[in-house]
Amino acid sequence: MFERLLPNLRLNSVYDLDIEALARRGIKGIITDLDNTLVGAKEPSATPRLIKWLDKLREHGFKVVIVSNNNETRVSRFAEPLGITFVHAARKPANRAFKKALQMLDLAEDQVAVLGDQMMTDVLGGNRLGMYTVLVLPISPKDEGIGTRINRIMERIALRSLRKKGLWYEEETN
Ligand SMILES: [Mg+2]
Repeated sequence: MFERLLPNLRLNSVYDLDIEALARRGIKGIITDLDNTLVGAKEPSATPRLIKWLDKLREHGFKVVIVSNNNETRVSRFAEPLGITFVHAARKPANRAFKKALQMLDLAEDQVAVLGDQMMTDVLGGNRLGMYTVLVLPISPKDEGIGTRINRIMERIALRSLRKKGLWYEEETN
């Protein structure tokens, strides 16, 4: 029952993403989470390293949209200086915000990768719509809010079951 929480790919961070390999899969757009995926949950703006990475994505022709469960103030303050469109208060894993993001990207589900640090929101939502899902480790786990901490408890239960079924190995993350 937890198979839907399994990402297609696990990485330590977004910087480990092989952009060319993604392009070869036919991926043209990225729906990315914000908090603890792009920057720590308490960091208000992008780091120089992240800005470079976003530029690299654009150079490779990728379209990017941020889909965050956080509020408009947080997400717009982060995204607007970067010129990146966003969906705030997304209520992931619900489909609605992901579908809205697909419209914004003007791409089909199989042309889009979802990046995020949570299985219960980012991965589940992306998988349900048939998108390519990439799970990264949270940048700053100590800054997670109550909702995320509850999700982490569910994640641990899911991981226990997935490990038993041989569907999850610790060493997979590079
Ligand atoms: Mg997150």
